[in-house]
Amino acid sequence: MTFESLGLHASVIQALTEAGYTKPTSVQEQAVPAAIEGRDLMVSSQTGSGKTAAFMLPALHKFASEPVVDQTGKTPNQEMQASRSRGDRPRFKAAQPKMLVLTPTRELALQVTSATDKYGSHMKRIKAISILGGMPYPKQMQLLAKNPEILVATPGRLIDHMESGKIDFSQLQILVLDEADRMLDMGFIDDIEKIVAATPESRQTMLFSATLDGVVGNMAKRITKNPMIIQIAGSATKHENIQQKVHFVDDLSHKNRLLDHLLRDETMDQAVVFTATKRDADNIADRLNIAGFAAAALHGDMHQGARNRTLDSLRRGQVRVLVATDVAARGIDVPAITHVFNYDLPKFPEDYVHRIGRTGRAGRNGVAVSLVNHAESMNVKRIERFTKQLIPVDVVVGFEPKKTASAPRSGQKPGGWKPGDNRSAPSKPGGRTFSKPGAPRRDGAGAGGGAGGGYKGNRTNDSSTRRSFGDR
Ligand code: ADP
Ligand code: MG
Repeated sequence: MTFESLGLHASVIQALTEAGYTKPTSVQEQAVPAAIEGRDLMVSSQTGSGKTAAFMLPALHKFASEPVVDQTGKTPNQEMQASRSRGDRPRFKAAQPKMLVLTPTRELALQVTSATDKYGSHMKRIKAISILGGMPYPKQMQLLAKNPEILVATPGRLIDHMESGKIDFSQLQILVLDEADRMLDMGFIDDIEKIVAATPESRQTMLFSATLDGVVGNMAKRITKNPMIIQIAGSATKHENIQQKVHFVDDLSHKNRLLDHLLRDETMDQAVVFTATKRDADNIADRLNIAGFAAAALHGDMHQGARNRTLDSLRRGQVRVLVATDVAARGIDVPAITHVFNYDLPKFPEDYVHRIGRTGRAGRNGVAVSLVNHAESMNVKRIERFTKQLIPVDVVVGFEPKKTASAPRSGQKPGGWKPGDNRSAPSKPGGRTFSKPGAPRRDGAGAGGGAGGGYKGNRTNDSSTRRSFGDR
């Protein structure tokens, strides 16, 4: 993916090349095209992931592509200069910014302003200024008198200027709330509401926050229209409120019996079971229904109406076990989901983080269980390397895997794992064993159908759909 392929204006690309940026970060990849289309955005993504460019590049692109000219045929800046040179009585004309970025702190505002200067260095008409608490008023009046296109402001000081008529938001096209969660933590909610209320309904709104849960999520929904929600889980996200476990299984029958057993856990309220394929989602949901669970499938082959009905039933608690594929379940936010099961491991380690994030919502605790064949232990290691956390192995009495591994796992570190990283003790002593990577498969074709008592799904080789794990 390149910046060119995101459709950005040539002057923006030139500035990025000079800044030494070679390719967009993931949040930029997702946010920029949507923002160029004019969509509102709700974005959560970790610090340092490049959020400033994610909102500033599309804005600069827009301003570079369609210069706004006022009724006199001149840009507001030219008009102001012209009136000055005509010797008109100097009178302060309220600044009419096209874009406003709200930030919680002065430091961040200055950072955003200088990033804007960098990204907009090949656009002569675009000026960005910071309006900050602590800056002398005369200096700010000078800046505002230049009628900058882009204002970057902390909420308190901005309100002062709005109330004294120095800023008029009637021409505002884009509103950005950067680090919205921190602004709320700092008690800016009323100021933000007031500022938002002073901007046109027609604006494009982009909100960035470490989390989109709780209060900040509610505010985000109030001030955006049909937003595109982008959540990029950082590999550093610890998910400390989610208890992660691996259960090794010998074959499909073992996996199915164990899943049944774990779904009967009395601490389970609602669960999502992830499968690799749509067909498996359907088959497993059918089997679970026959076994007496209120289960339903959710995947991309279902019509939108059916998907919405399933999600509604899940929210109302009528569906207790949702059997879903990655794409369909992305972003599901149902607080009563206490358990996530990886019936199949995800194709990519990032998806593991998205999956387990379906539980432990809104500060609650959650459990995330991966049912893993011995031959897949390398894939577990890749996940551990990505999350920088070891996933403890658990064993349920009566459901022990027959195969015990030769390489003891205690004392081993996943690549990149450092002492001090979150690591819980094994819940059963016998469980901390691990098969050697590359050990011959014992659970391949035939295993699923062979052992009785399990689901009679169409699986032949449990990991046949996952050969590309980690291929990116
Ligand atoms: P965030 O707001 O997500 O914390 P920033 O927008 O402040 O992140 O960016 C973090 C750093 O990454 C900055 O130094 C910025 O210049 C740099 N950066 C952003 N996007 C890219 C990119 N596509 N390529 C290289 N560096 C980038
Ligand atoms: Mg930032």
